[in-house]
Amino acid sequence: MNKHVNCFNLHAYSLIIKHIRSHQNMKLKFLVRKNIFNLTKYSCARDEFKGKASVYLDANENPYNQPYNRYPDPLQYSLRKKIAKSKKIYTDQVMLANGSDEAIDLAFRIFCEPGQDNVVAIEPTYGMYKVVADINNVEYKKVLLDKNFQLDAKKILNKTNQFTKLIFLCSPNNPSGNLLNKIEITKIISIFQGIVIIDEAYIDFSGQNSWLVDLNKYSNLIVFQTFSKAWGMASIRCGLVFASKKIIYFFNKIKYPYNISLLTQNFINKQLDKESKKNEWIKIILSQRELLIKSLKTMTNIVEEVYHSDANFLLVKVKNSNYTYNELTKKGIIVRNRSSVLLCDNCLRITIGTENENKILIETLKNLK
Ligand SMILES: *Cc1c(COP(=O)(O)O)cnc(C)c1O
Repeated sequence: MNKHVNCFNLHAYSLIIKHIRSHQNMKLKFLVRKNIFNLTKYSCARDEFKGKASVYLDANENPYNQPYNRYPDPLQYSLRKKIAKSKKIYTDQVMLANGSDEAIDLAFRIFCEPGQDNVVAIEPTYGMYKVVADINNVEYKKVLLDKNFQLDAKKILNKTNQFTKLIFLCSPNNPSGNLLNKIEITKIISIFQGIVIIDEAYIDFSGQNSWLVDLNKYSNLIVFQTFSKAWGMASIRCGLVFASKKIIYFFNKIKYPYNISLLTQNFINKQLDKESKKNEWIKIILSQRELLIKSLKTMTNIVEEVYHSDANFLLVKVKNSNYTYNELTKKGIIVRNRSSVLLCDNCLRITIGTENENKILIETLKNLK
């Protein structure tokens, strides 16, 4: 703390902090489902004894086949510590999930009472939020984005009621590809009394700061990130949840004890040392994105509009999405047909591939009628 803060200010400061803390406690107790708040969490052998020992006879493991005979650290302490350091946050502000899919499901199960509570989300957006809401029997309320795929804080807040526990925002958004307006998001986080989740699966492609820099400012903010996109590790299934220590506590409380295998923990640990590789990939993908945009914009016989992208994919409005989609498929090129999604009439979602893959796509499109 600043040396020049005098005693009076220090006292006032601690009072404010105390007030905020008790306010947070109250709020979370109010927001978390009662059964989860009161839950006695499963206690595994590795929870009870932490340090290092020479003889482990506590978990009914097979003593042979080192090191995979042993249960992994359920709280992935060393890996979370390393991630926290690189993100400039505390270790107890991060939780590791089996992909963002698990993170989404845990958020519903922590906060939303089935058949009673609801969540509010933008539309169009990532399809998993709605599916997980349905699985958990939680009402899912959509607020349509505008023509530029931007959100209006007022509209979203107006959709909430006393049973709204979560607001889902996705920035950059999938399938539109754009970052959501920061000022509108700030209004939502500041005014909404429940939890705001910002899914940043594509943040590394955006050139904008993550909301992580504001993690300490907003006690109701949860940020999701993932190793599936910029890090190129979709197959290992690891998603990241960032929030206050108090919120992270509940994610770790209800997850399956060993949700991240030792193979995965070790692999990520090694990959984290090669962050420069990830940054190189991002650079290439971004320059390929610009090339692809340029080429698509010249194809005025097929392409109606290429939407602005802050992600590693493009949403492209074509004259006839089913025709273009089918023709590409026949040539062995698979893109995502999003034409049935609201505001995405005749839209294809195209992931940026390697230079060669993008060339094949462009050549194929040029040769279509
Ligand atoms: C791809 C994607 C994810 C990643 O999900 P994982 O389960 O971590 O692979 C998360 N959110 C959005 C919006 C995505 O498009």
